[in-house]
Amino acid sequence: MARPFLASWLLLQAGIPPQNLKAASPPPPKLKVHGYLTARVDATTVAILDDQIHLGSAKIVAHDSAGEHPIPSADLATGMLVEAEGIWTGHHQFAAEKVTVDAGLLEKQIHYTAYLQEEPKDAEKIKNGASAELKADGEWLLVDSKTKRSWSAPEATVVNASDTGGTKTPGATPDAGNHASLAGYRVEYHGARLADGKISAEKLELSAPAPVDAYKMPHGLEVVRAKDPQTGIDVLEFRRGKKVDGRMKLFPDKTVQTYVSDLGDSLLPAGSKGTTKALEFRFFVIEDSSINAAALPDGTVLVNTALLGAVENEAQLAFILSHEISHVLQVHYWREVHETRPQRISLLIAGIAAGAFIGDLGLFMAELGMISVINGHQRELENQADRLGLQNVIEHGYDPRPAPGFMRIIVERYGARSTSKLWSNHDSAVLRGSFLTVQLQKQYPDHRFDGTKVNTAAFDEMRDALGPVRIE
Ligand SMILES: [Zn+2]
Repeated sequence: MARPFLASWLLLQAGIPPQNLKAASPPPPKLKVHGYLTARVDATTVAILDDQIHLGSAKIVAHDSAGEHPIPSADLATGMLVEAEGIWTGHHQFAAEKVTVDAGLLEKQIHYTAYLQEEPKDAEKIKNGASAELKADGEWLLVDSKTKRSWSAPEATVVNASDTGGTKTPGATPDAGNHASLAGYRVEYHGARLADGKISAEKLELSAPAPVDAYKMPHGLEVVRAKDPQTGIDVLEFRRGKKVDGRMKLFPDKTVQTYVSDLGDSLLPAGSKGTTKALEFRFFVIEDSSINAAALPDGTVLVNTALLGAVENEAQLAFILSHEISHVLQVHYWREVHETRPQRISLLIAGIAAGAFIGDLGLFMAELGMISVINGHQRELENQADRLGLQNVIEHGYDPRPAPGFMRIIVERYGARSTSKLWSNHDSAVLRGSFLTVQLQKQYPDHRFDGTKVNTAAFDEMRDALGPVRIE
């Protein structure tokens, strides 16, 4: 029977050493822990969330373009992305034999792009060459006399989000620093990370919002509310033209659907009105037993019932919805297609499987070449969505501290089941939980979150209406 072995393997992957393996005579297999260092415990110990990594005589190397080179263990610091190889010696205790540090995090030079999700408060100062702070991309950018800046909003046609159909409205061109909206505009920034986590901006460049195409669904795909013709139950239909490619079952309870939809709408940042194509964000609860949520490029956000059953409070759900909203506003699907995998776009699926799929969105998205909306985008984009997710919940009066806590729950309670299925393929809950922890420590050290929103009566009512859900 392979089952006991499999169970052990899952526990090990989840960071929980199965006690019954201790007595086994063959040497335990080498295992890996991958994540951001969340604490330096003492001279010989570092931590990734709850896992303590004992360095002992571990070989510590930094990995960069020149290959691997050893670094002293004293250099290991909070925030570094590491992969530790070794063995579990107890609950949350890991003895490392080798620790590899990702060079990307050793580099203090930052170069990112983001679309402004909020109105920059100091736009006028930035335009006039004065010193200013810019909160963008979930980062704090310090702008001073040394910052090379290009801060005049180029011509862009922005439609009001209340217009439907994405018709262009000439004359609605915002002008930087003129009290017109800059939310939605693209910012490219270069800078150096300071000890306090803020970024000293060396270069700052404002440019046009993302083009209309960035919010289009590929393959002419449309997601439409409908009734299943056989059973009459409420479904979401995935259509191309008149052809129905598939249907997903909507959770039938109205209280649950309305709660999630209202919460999602309440979290939309100003940037959602500054897009070149009028976006209609729609939030749907799908009957699905995997802990996951997904966002499609047009603003359709799908939340699985298992996710609603797994979150502990509204603050966690608000963070997850904010993360998904950021995937849309940061046009991650489009960026991925255009910036990182131009060769793959030619693989347009000639013919999606002839029969309509029922329920398996992952399979369907894989066929459409859109699996990243389900499994997670490349790490930089997931990190950006997490940074902006935190920024957004803080803006909306929520306590951001439960967000990393949710990743811990996933690790402890559901282990690798969630990571192996849909939650995220290459960004495990450990990776995300540790990133969020570091992000909160570094970016918001002085914030006092006591008294901010954690839970609401509406959340509890939603949970009552949801009832017990299947989670696998
Ligand atoms: Zn994501």
